[in-house]
Amino acid sequence: MTIFEKIARREIPAQIVFDDENVTAFRDANPQGPVHVLIVPKRVIPRLAEAAETDAELLGRLLLVARTLANQLGISQSGYRVVINNGPDAGETVPHLHVHLLGKRSLGWPPG
Ligand code: 5GP
Repeated sequence: MTIFEKIARREIPAQIVFDDENVTAFRDANPQGPVHVLIVPKRVIPRLAEAAETDAELLGRLLLVARTLANQLGISQSGYRVVINNGPDAGETVPHLHVHLLGKRSLGWPPG
């Protein structure tokens, strides 16, 4: 089981900010800004590279939850970034697809 599945099952503590039948979102344990939330499908897709056409609705839900949380966390106007790290060059460390929502600070571009 992945660490994010354990968080979704409340077996590992986390600051959960959103939870429904298909998606959990919680504060990153090592935040890279004042707002850093991970939005995670409960069903494990290891990474975007392994997503299927039949995952289209779930993938869309992840972005809509990011949008909703950005509103709730007060970063809709100031701006925010959504990030998916896929594979070694991107620094992926947890093999359970997740969308990072980052904000409440100015974010550099291009990313490092
Ligand atoms: P990745 O590098 O795979 O895109 O992102 C994994 C993220 O998960 C990292 O930002 C890391 O800080 C976060 N993370 C890893 N383990 C835990 C954990 O047990 N709890 C929480 N809340 N975040 C975690």
